[in-house]
Amino acid sequence: MINLSGLTKRYGGTTVVHGLTLTIEPGLVTGFLGPNGAGKSTTMRMILGLDRPTAGTALVKGRRYEEFRHPLREIGALLDAKALHPGRSGRAHLLAMARSNGIPAARVEEVLATVGLSDAARKRAGVYSLGMGQRLGIAGALLGDPGVLMFDEPVNGLDPDGVRWVRELMRSLAAEGRTVFVSSHLMSEMELTADRLVVIGKGRLLADAPIADILAGG
Ligand code: ADP
Ligand code: ADP
Repeated sequence: MINLSGLTKRYGGTTVVHGLTLTIEPGLVTGFLGPNGAGKSTTMRMILGLDRPTAGTALVKGRRYEEFRHPLREIGALLDAKALHPGRSGRAHLLAMARSNGIPAARVEEVLATVGLSDAARKRAGVYSLGMGQRLGIAGALLGDPGVLMFDEPVNGLDPDGVRWVRELMRSLAAEGRTVFVSSHLMSEMELTADRLVVIGKGRLLADAPIADILAGG
């Protein structure tokens, strides 16, 4: 599970995340809905220890990300594909992540097969389409078999089959009892995947309820 407590981020004079307090529970897909610029990525980056909160805390299973010796075994995430090294192959990216997290190399082949990149993984990341980059990012998120997963706009750049595959993946990860936190700027996407919806606008929590209640206008 993920616990946010008074989580706040300011850049210069602008507060982009305002005191978010919420718990993201296991066994559910929790959708994180808000327009572009609402603060979704910044929140996820703070959970992953990639941005330092200005105030408040973000805990995964009761600990800060930095406290984990092998973080990929605890939390996997799909963030911005721009983090890839263009000259390195997809497989090399995953092997490096596996090595630094004590994950056997054979697991890399498993997750590449899961995301349908077994053949393409020898190509350098610089030639990947957006959809292939998304698939590689999802493979990275699954690599450590973590109990907590975060996906930032995961259907971006995928073809219709890929979109359906991602939706089913989210559902099955939650059905296995994992914590799944997934962002989107589209309510239509959230309706198809989320059990619960956390809505933010301009960095502030606007709603947090079961999706059925939100659809009923509650
Ligand atoms: P979302 O993921 O919901 O689209 P972001 O978290 O990416 O929103 O951005 C929230 C706000 O924070 C935006 O106004 C964005 O311009 C700003 N922002 C994000 N990163 C930085 C940064 N490194 N420096 C300054 N402003 C930033
Ligand atoms: P490196 O340059 O060492 O390969 P990255 O720039 O890829 O590291 O990642 C920066 C940080 O983000 C690291 O602490 C890494 O553990 C974390 N990270 C990268 N990818 C993921 C992921 N898929 N899931 C969780 N954490 C990740």
